[in-house]
Amino acid sequence: MTRAAEAVHVSSLFIDGTWATPSTTDRIEVLSASAGAPIGSVPHAGRADVDAAVAAARRAFDDPTGWRTWEPAERADALDRLAAEMTARAEQTAARVSEQNGMPISTAGQLEGGFPIATVSYYAALLRESITEETNPHMLGGTSTTRKEPIGVVAAIAPWNFPQCLAAFKYAPALAAGCTVVLKPSPETVLDSELLAQAAEAAGLPAGVLNIVPGGRDTGAYLVQHPDVNKVAFTGSTGAGRAIAEVCGRLLRPVTLELGGKSAAIVLDDADLDLTVIGEKLFGATMLNNGQTCFLGTRILAPRSRYDEVVGAFEALVGTLVVGDALDPATTLGPMVSAQHRDRVEGYIASGKQQGARLVTGGGRPAGLDNGWFVEPTVFADVDNSFTIAREEIFGPVLSIIPFDDDADAIRIANDSPYGLGGSVWTTDEDRGMNVARQIQTGTIGVNTYLIDMFAPFGGVKDSGLGRELGPNAISTYQNIKTIFR
Ligand code: NAD
Repeated sequence: MTRAAEAVHVSSLFIDGTWATPSTTDRIEVLSASAGAPIGSVPHAGRADVDAAVAAARRAFDDPTGWRTWEPAERADALDRLAAEMTARAEQTAARVSEQNGMPISTAGQLEGGFPIATVSYYAALLRESITEETNPHMLGGTSTTRKEPIGVVAAIAPWNFPQCLAAFKYAPALAAGCTVVLKPSPETVLDSELLAQAAEAAGLPAGVLNIVPGGRDTGAYLVQHPDVNKVAFTGSTGAGRAIAEVCGRLLRPVTLELGGKSAAIVLDDADLDLTVIGEKLFGATMLNNGQTCFLGTRILAPRSRYDEVVGAFEALVGTLVVGDALDPATTLGPMVSAQHRDRVEGYIASGKQQGARLVTGGGRPAGLDNGWFVEPTVFADVDNSFTIAREEIFGPVLSIIPFDDDADAIRIANDSPYGLGGSVWTTDEDRGMNVARQIQTGTIGVNTYLIDMFAPFGGVKDSGLGRELGPNAISTYQNIKTIFR
């Protein structure tokens, strides 16, 4: 096992294409999730720094020969250079994320190291083929020309669980559209953002096109309401999303919200429960990143006719997991991001027991891992969908197995949730699986799998959010449409 590196202490902020001296001496200290020890720090952006970042993004956007006016191919070339510079830093990025939030390095390498680069390259490729102006006949004669124009300065706010992916889901299509960006990473995971800034600098992105302001909730709130911001793209909790939506509603400011989830993994009565066949996919759909993933199906809906079998399968699945230091390549389940979050997850485990759920496995802290913020992977059976552990997002490795009578009952229970983000259906009959999937109130769902697809839209319904990221239409969410009549 290798530690990411020696401690990382960053002294300046990436604003306006240079490393600026922060306006305050406040710093964000970051701890290792696996070891509980300090691993680095960055300056905490003050309001003056946010002002400077937004002003830089504004100037870069308004520049009459600037980024937004470049030929699409020219902007695409710049994004390809960014992807190349990110590739050069991918391993280091994955290690920093893993060390900060506890994501197993095997997952972080693929997702935090790889996915953002693929996302930037994808939007660069789409940009090369993009058509931004179209002329059609006017209903009364003459023509109507419809133009897609970049929306302006984008405030992008990311959470800590997939800090690089979720930032890229925003800045990649935004930059492709010709917007400029102020990114606010989460304080738990800020060390990796230094590497993104280095990549932007090395790729020669023009000054002010991408700016980074590390900070917490107050910094985010200040950025969201900033008069010179034209759009907010947010991923995080439903509570914060609601607060942001209220501000954006008052300001009539476009906003995309990717929020929490409490999705259902529906095991139909014909499912193949052989873990050698479905184990890896089932794990990805229910426990990826130590349960710290928004779209996971953490409510397992099991048919009464095979209830004990399903409970046994999840108990066995959990038994195969390797709990340990996130940087160990053998680890499949790492720690929680922080002591506070570990306590929150443990509070939910206590609530499950107290409300009468049957603890099948886990429920405590793993032996011999006392320094980091570890929680045993936990399975509860005999959970009623009204229990707190079935209603609220736990964001940890805690599964609740809920019985159902038939497909209609499973659909009813799945939809009886304030959330609607992900989900999955497990069956040997794909048509039956599709039929169930069509009836679930959710933004995304898998049949015998759940894997986010960069080429397809991702997002939620109900309390899981507003709008969609990814897919070919994401660029248009960073554009205004103007019609010119002639
Ligand atoms: P959080 O809401 O506490 O914070 C997310 C980000 O928003 C952070 O950068 C934070 O500093 C900032 N922030 C918080 N309050 C703000 C406010 N009022 N104004 C502006 N910025 C504010 O969430 P978290 O704990 O960092 O992340 C976990 C949550 O994110 C979970 O609920 C999870 O489901 C959700 N999430 C959703 C998706 C999705 O795509 N739907 C993906 C990943 C995570």
